[in-house]
Amino acid sequence: MTNYVELHAHSYFSLLDGASSPDDLLRRARELGMDALALTDHDAVYGAVPFVKAAREIGIRPILGAEMTLEGDPTPHHLTLLVEEACGWANLCQLITLARHNAPKGNALLPSDALEGHTKGLIALSGCRLGEIAAAIRYNDPQTALKTAQRYRDLFGRNHFFIELQHHLLPHDDSLTADLVALAEQIGVPYVATNNVHYARRESSRLQDVLVCIRHLKPLEEAASLCRPNSEYYLKSADEMCALFADYPDAITQTRHIAERCTFDLSFGLQELPTFPAPEGMSAHAYLQKLCVEGLVTRRIEPTDEIKRQLDYELGVIERSGLANYFLIVWDLVRFARTNDILCQGRGSAANSLVAYLLGISPVNPMEHDLVFERFLSDERQVVPDIDIDFQADRREEVIQYVYERYGNEHAAMACTFVTFRARSAIRDVGKALGLPPEVLDRAARTIDTFKSGRIAEVGDLDAIFGSKATFDQLADLADQIDGFPRHLGIHNGGMIVMGVPLSSRLPTELATMPDRYVVQWDKDAIEDAGLVKIDILGLRMLSAIAEAKQTVEAITGQPLDLDELRFDDPAIYDMVSAADTIGVFQVESRAQQQVLPRLQPRQFNDLIVSISLIRPGPVQGNMVHPYLRRRLGQETVIYPHPLLQPALEETLGVVLFQEQVLKVARDLAGFTGGQGEGLRRALGSKRAHEALDRFHVAFLDGAARKGVENPIADAVFDTLRAFGGYSFPKSHAAAFAVLVYQSAWFKHYHPAAFYAALLNHQPMGFWSPAAIVNDAKRHGIRVLPVEVNMSAGKCTVQGGAIRLGFNQVKGFGAVAIERVMETRMVSDFCSLADFCHRTQLPQRLIENLILAGGMDGWGKTRRSLVWELGKLDYRPDTLPLDLPEDTLDLPPVSLLEVMGIEYGLLGISLRDHVMTLYRPQLLERGILGNRDLERCQDGDTVTVAGQILVHQAPPTAKGHHFITLEDEDGFINIIVRPDVYAQYRRVLRESPLLVIEGTVQHSRGVLNVIAANASALP
Ligand SMILES: [Zn+2]
Ligand SMILES: [Zn+2]
Repeated sequence: MTNYVELHAHSYFSLLDGASSPDDLLRRARELGMDALALTDHDAVYGAVPFVKAAREIGIRPILGAEMTLEGDPTPHHLTLLVEEACGWANLCQLITLARHNAPKGNALLPSDALEGHTKGLIALSGCRLGEIAAAIRYNDPQTALKTAQRYRDLFGRNHFFIELQHHLLPHDDSLTADLVALAEQIGVPYVATNNVHYARRESSRLQDVLVCIRHLKPLEEAASLCRPNSEYYLKSADEMCALFADYPDAITQTRHIAERCTFDLSFGLQELPTFPAPEGMSAHAYLQKLCVEGLVTRRIEPTDEIKRQLDYELGVIERSGLANYFLIVWDLVRFARTNDILCQGRGSAANSLVAYLLGISPVNPMEHDLVFERFLSDERQVVPDIDIDFQADRREEVIQYVYERYGNEHAAMACTFVTFRARSAIRDVGKALGLPPEVLDRAARTIDTFKSGRIAEVGDLDAIFGSKATFDQLADLADQIDGFPRHLGIHNGGMIVMGVPLSSRLPTELATMPDRYVVQWDKDAIEDAGLVKIDILGLRMLSAIAEAKQTVEAITGQPLDLDELRFDDPAIYDMVSAADTIGVFQVESRAQQQVLPRLQPRQFNDLIVSISLIRPGPVQGNMVHPYLRRRLGQETVIYPHPLLQPALEETLGVVLFQEQVLKVARDLAGFTGGQGEGLRRALGSKRAHEALDRFHVAFLDGAARKGVENPIADAVFDTLRAFGGYSFPKSHAAAFAVLVYQSAWFKHYHPAAFYAALLNHQPMGFWSPAAIVNDAKRHGIRVLPVEVNMSAGKCTVQGGAIRLGFNQVKGFGAVAIERVMETRMVSDFCSLADFCHRTQLPQRLIENLILAGGMDGWGKTRRSLVWELGKLDYRPDTLPLDLPEDTLDLPPVSLLEVMGIEYGLLGISLRDHVMTLYRPQLLERGILGNRDLERCQDGDTVTVAGQILVHQAPPTAKGHHFITLEDEDGFINIIVRPDVYAQYRRVLRESPLLVIEGTVQHSRGVLNVIAANASALP
């Protein structure tokens, strides 16, 4: 135990003003023998939870606090605040909230009078050189310094205010320290030393400078005044600090006294939830029970003994966890959505719960699919689970608004996210700070294949771009170091937290980019680790598309359509899915899925669950996919690692596919309880839980031994679980998604025009581009009609069985432009370009896009002459009668290739023939094959194929293999590129839109790939 404790330290959560993670700081503190450490990031407690968590693991006592920015003249002041006890935490949160709400987004400025009434439980240190007192001394204003010090002393109390001394070997540090000490003695307050730490080790001072440059958008050479003057801002040892403050030994011992006083322990547990207004003074629990019993009727479930037992059990666990109110809040949201015709359904582990099913939150009955409730909630589980609900994306906002209205702005906020540096942005930002020219950085960033962390140094040809290896090395090294650092704050996609008490008394909130929107200073992990519960209000575009397709069909047939009536048993749907005719179908449309489906041959709902779950990193990495498929096809016998595992793994033919099976395996083989199994599953999914995993390993082997399982078998099973990791769907989640697979497949099969139109209206979504969707529609015999100024609606619509593209498909046409066109057209059709311009008064740019997209072809003029005419119109929005131009030039028509290029650029779709048709004669001559020819090829044939690149993927699980999907007028050609071939043809594969590939055919069970040997561009 040292006599010095650092009480003023910034982590990278000071956002571009700190160069170490909380973890690094703590590890360094331990190396230096400190037993406590304070975290004082600028105006924030972003890092509080990870700091506390890591501190506990490392065995250091965490002290929480923040360095506040106060209003000041001429510049803001700094003040260091440390949390002594619980009421101090509440005050700190309120102060940070006040400071954040008093400044533009991303900044903070505490009003000078705001400290009053918010000082209890806090210890204040007078701050760095920018502290109000130090600044006054530096400006030779001892009177102000004295008055200010007295004011703070009276505000916080004699035992809660300390003069802060810092010494960074700067010219005036000696005299400043002496003056501060004299002042402290004069007014009778103690003084204390800190080092205003900005990085754990001296080596990181360069990185700190670069971060400051990124913050101020300036290159290093211009930023000298903004950067710290030297590299003394690292975490110093007690010896170093004692030496610096040799004249003031009390300044050192005081750190320990303060550290010992700060006993606040951040352990939240479930927040006070708003009390749901249950009728007739019923308790939340009783009301929940009543709703569930009603749910049995609406869901048409026979209340058997088994059902009743499960329901009682679940309600018991929910009550003991204090979550009855939470379920009611979520139920209320779903009810709001239903009554407003907003499609929604729960996803994730909530679908394990019968209660969630009965309340209409989740779409599947867990009893029918053998789902495990403990995966969602159990008596032993420490962490409270979130309920995640998908709402149709285009109406999610209404649901969020509802939450704000119902609980109030002070009680509801979104979780934040930290937007972090990734390979590409790190290279760009660091490069700018180092003063490298933008062109070089553009090329460098573009050349980087991966956004994945920790891969920057592996990229090869950057050297060539920079000329000098040293420059590149420096760039790569710094970029590598900040890879994964938080850069700025974002808003979490739908995670909402609601509290019965005002949020700001528990954790700070700040402004989000959206007006009237607040985010809390914690991200979803921190919220979960602290034991708070949130509701995830997610937007799912597929739900929007299904809702719209449903409406279209209802409008066409005049009959209401109840999707809940679908029985998931239509052979025609399974035929289509088995044939991998799945473009546009939820979750099973990807290229990888299309490779699996013909082998899997789904015939029932459960097969859809399996199909979704197979193509996940867990089963792929755990090598489950091929054994599963072989066993299903009867090419391999189903074996179990141990007979005890048969019940758990029978449904998946002896392999582990679902997260829940981890729990079942642990239960059946090693006697784990549900809660232990869940702990194991989480450890498997966490990159950092090595120690926890080792403990589970031992417990697993012990438990298995007690059941008489031989050690090598138990060990092998554990290894399988380890390879599987946590990267898979829970079966409950897959089951909820499978409902949407079936519904979307059903629409594709029975109402294709309505379905494709809806897909186009809700892009971007899924795996394929709008162009691929349109081509798929055409292959299914659906006519797709162009945008037409008098026929199109805002959205894509179904007209006489054909899809009519809407104005929303034209580049630049947003809601306002569309509304203007539709409104003006109500009076009468447009009869000419001038008429259109005159009546809509839309910007010229938009009208030009509409012309070039073919929207005005109906008037019998070429697009080129219409554009010419548009240019001649003296046309500005709000100009009255437009003169018709007299001369119309006859311009040469644009070539087909040009038209297609323009349409593609403006629409993302070309309705002409596929671009490859233009090349077909040439390709035929060269003996180059297309999709249609390929079907006749045998396994092992050498072929040359060509097509337009539709998809290029290199999933991390594929060990360097790249997967490219080419498209031509007849369909797709799947290309697999091995790592060595990719290295050789990287540029052409990355940069050419049209490719010629020579390679070998791999053809088995209806799945056809070409293994590339070489590649060239189609000119
Ligand atoms: Zn400061
Ligand atoms: Zn500081």
